Amino acid sequence: MLEDLRQVLTGRLVTPEDPDWEHVRRGWNLSVDQQPSAVVVAAGPSDVEHTVAYAGAHGLKVAPQAGGHGATRALDGTIVVRTDALDDIWIDSEAQVARLGAGVRWGAVQTALDGTGLTGLPGSTGNVSVAGFCTSGGFSWFSRPYGSGAASLRAAEIVDATGERRWIDDTSDADLMWALRGGGGNFGVVTALEIDLHPAPAISGARLMFPIEQAESVLTAYAKATQEAAAQVTLWAYLIHLPDGSYCMIDGMAPYQPEALEAALSTIRAAGTPVSDTVQSLQPSGVGELNSVPAPPQALSLITSTFDELTPDLICTLLEYCGQPSLIFQVQIRHLRASTDAARPGVASADPAAQYMLLAVSLVQGPEATAALQKFQEALTPWHAGDMPSTGLSAWGSLEDCYSPADLARLREIKQRVDPDDTFVGNFRLP
Ligand SMILES: Cc1cc2nc3c(=O)[nH]c(=O)nc-3n(C[C@H](O)[C@H](O)[C@H](O)COP(=O)(O)OP(=O)(O)OC[C@H]3O[C@@H](n4cnc5c(N)ncnc54)[C@H](O)[C@@H]3O)c2cc1C
Repeated sequence: MLEDLRQVLTGRLVTPEDPDWEHVRRGWNLSVDQQPSAVVVAAGPSDVEHTVAYAGAHGLKVAPQAGGHGATRALDGTIVVRTDALDDIWIDSEAQVARLGAGVRWGAVQTALDGTGLTGLPGSTGNVSVAGFCTSGGFSWFSRPYGSGAASLRAAEIVDATGERRWIDDTSDADLMWALRGGGGNFGVVTALEIDLHPAPAISGARLMFPIEQAESVLTAYAKATQEAAAQVTLWAYLIHLPDGSYCMIDGMAPYQPEALEAALSTIRAAGTPVSDTVQSLQPSGVGELNSVPAPPQALSLITSTFDELTPDLICTLLEYCGQPSLIFQVQIRHLRASTDAARPGVASADPAAQYMLLAVSLVQGPEATAALQKFQEALTPWHAGDMPSTGLSAWGSLEDCYSPADLARLREIKQRVDPDDTFVGNFRLP
């Protein structure tokens, strides 16, 4: 049945009959056994147009996917459209704007920005796509001073439900732009996007590693340092179990005024004796490497939560569940945004009200690891502080954890207008 589509594509149509199907059907996160009906590896935007037009005519569903870091089973039965070949990068440093193909990863943008004094909004890995990140909320090292990835989205070229490709912005369709800033792939396939770039004249990045035995006092100092930190300083804390030992680790980043980062680190240094203490000035390309997330596909399961205050009780609970090696490999605490004055209106999911986001990761597959993560999530319930960006959801999460009922109703109205036949499927469907 898909033969007619294959005929008009310049890129590949991969189906379960193809020898590399098992490899192609999966996204970066191998723990998600996503089962699309076919995958279109688009060679250019016109392949996306053909695919959407074909799907619309045959009552099929289309799911955009770049790297597959956000793979979920919502994509089962769809035609997944891979955008890697849409890799154009155009930068206007004077206007502080980048225009990017939908397959471009943050690492490539950051490398192109080396020497310009500007940065994009990369998160913990340069391997994540800008399109996936910005359409799903996106929380960066630089979101405290500059807002979320979604709030940085100026305009998008989309293939709409009729298969037509066009640019939209806040002037031409403010509602659809609002929905794209966090609602993911439920509204169309983005083939290119325009984002803000931000001043980063002197990026500094730091990593302090303490023996896990000092975690209680280090996390207490981290809580104080985050409350006092200047808006441009971002601090993440970890409890992590590595082959050579268990650590409480603090990473820090600032796009300018390295002395503000130093001030925050000095509060934390005083709380213990670091076994490793590195502070370095970075080019934009070095930002995504601070966390050393492997680029090749991995199998990982995670849970996420938010909270407002890192209290002694909460630190105790973190140490109870993650203080010694277990099925949980690491827990990360990310200090969220400093202010709500984002450059332009985002969506609720792009503007978490909570002070901190927590992620717990297991590298072990199977029901025991899932049960351990879920038990930990239940233990965190008393501190849970509500909405988070959909880039922070685990594979079994729901957009209900990201939006207020009023915002969900608005998203549904926009979906009904732009995609009445429900052709487009995001990794988190509208409930
Ligand atoms: C190791 C790791 C580190 C991460 N670090 C961070 C971080 O620091 N901060 C953060 O906010 N998130 C982070 N994430 C989450 C990540 O940002 C999301 O998964 C995000 O969706 C982008 O990843 P991706 O490009 O691989 O997306 P994909 O899995 O390819 O896409 C995710 C969804 O984005 C939408 N989408 C993608 N491309 C398009 C398109 N062309 N048109 C329309 N919709 C599209 C679709 O809904 C799609 O299902 C991380 C994830 C992992 C696995």
